[in-house]
Amino acid sequence: MFTPPFCPYAACSLHVDPPVQKWWSLDGFHATKAFGNVQRYQCHSCGRTFSEQTFSVHYYAKFVIDFRRLEWLAASSMSLRALSREFRCTCDSVTNRNDRIARQGIALHTTLRRTATTNEAVCFDGLVSFDRSQYFPSDIGLSITSKSRYIYAASHATTRRSGSMRDEQKVRRDSLYEGTHFERKAVERSFTEHLDLLADERTIAKGTPLVLITDEKKEYVRAFRKHRLYLNQDEDHRCVQIQVPSTWKRTFSNPLFASNYLDREIRKDQANHRRETTCYSRNVANSMSRLYSYIVWHNYQKRYLIKKPVHMKATAAEKAGLSSDEQSRLRQNMFVQRSFLSHLHLAAIDFKIWSKTAFSPQTGTLVSGTLPAFAFG
Ligand SMILES: [Zn+2]
Repeated sequence: MFTPPFCPYAACSLHVDPPVQKWWSLDGFHATKAFGNVQRYQCHSCGRTFSEQTFSVHYYAKFVIDFRRLEWLAASSMSLRALSREFRCTCDSVTNRNDRIARQGIALHTTLRRTATTNEAVCFDGLVSFDRSQYFPSDIGLSITSKSRYIYAASHATTRRSGSMRDEQKVRRDSLYEGTHFERKAVERSFTEHLDLLADERTIAKGTPLVLITDEKKEYVRAFRKHRLYLNQDEDHRCVQIQVPSTWKRTFSNPLFASNYLDREIRKDQANHRRETTCYSRNVANSMSRLYSYIVWHNYQKRYLIKKPVHMKATAAEKAGLSSDEQSRLRQNMFVQRSFLSHLHLAAIDFKIWSKTAFSPQTGTLVSGTLPAFAFG
């Protein structure tokens, strides 16, 4: 029989550390179409009620979608509308389930990322796409280890459209940009979020310096020179940046190969980042949620090298030194047990994606997506 692990209400004293003694009582059933009769419980401390479903990844859902299948199809270039046709539901329902997979994935990645033992160099580059219109290009920052190709994190920056334009395009641009406020130094801020993460989670010691490989964008140099990773260096905490000219061939021997590989994979596997199609991101927060699901799938599910014999199923995470048993256990849990935000210590870069927060040029401020209250539980 199911035993509630803790009180699901974040304000209750039994939310974090419930006693060994029974702290709840049965509180009848409620009938649902999707799950039949669901047992309800009442907390002895706060008096509030909850159900077995509260702890399931399908909480509040009115029908069940196979999350593993959705994750796999979304990582295999299927567009949002194609997914809604496949699962016979609305695009909003697919977005809702994508968000759940992303939040479960953030919880898993947060737990496992800290256990990576690799000392490899970290490649960083921006994937250029756009949201809503090509007049609002996005620069999606991605950090990835150079050999094992284990993706650390993703960040988002909206930039102004640049490059040559026809006269009518310039008129259209001026009309769209009227009243907008673009974020200043957005790409610099985006790179800094990754530096913060590496400073907090990556072990830097004598003999194992942190090596960052980027292209020659001056924003990366400026951000790095201002960051504590650069400023607080001493003999035991070395951090260097290697700049690779973008004119170098994108071959395996290019030091930025991991970033170039990831760029190619995302363009191939994520319908909304393909070039010259009708599939594109309509919403920054939704697109970042979906990208995070892809990152988790890439790190913990996808085989590292497809050309290896079929019995070799190692993932990028295992190549980065993570335990395969722990990875399998958490991947199982990810599709069953709901992760609670209040039980996690999310890095700022991940919290932005969990809370669907992004900078909006229309308002000139950070905007949080409309999330149901339970997503903050
Ligand atoms: Zn309670």
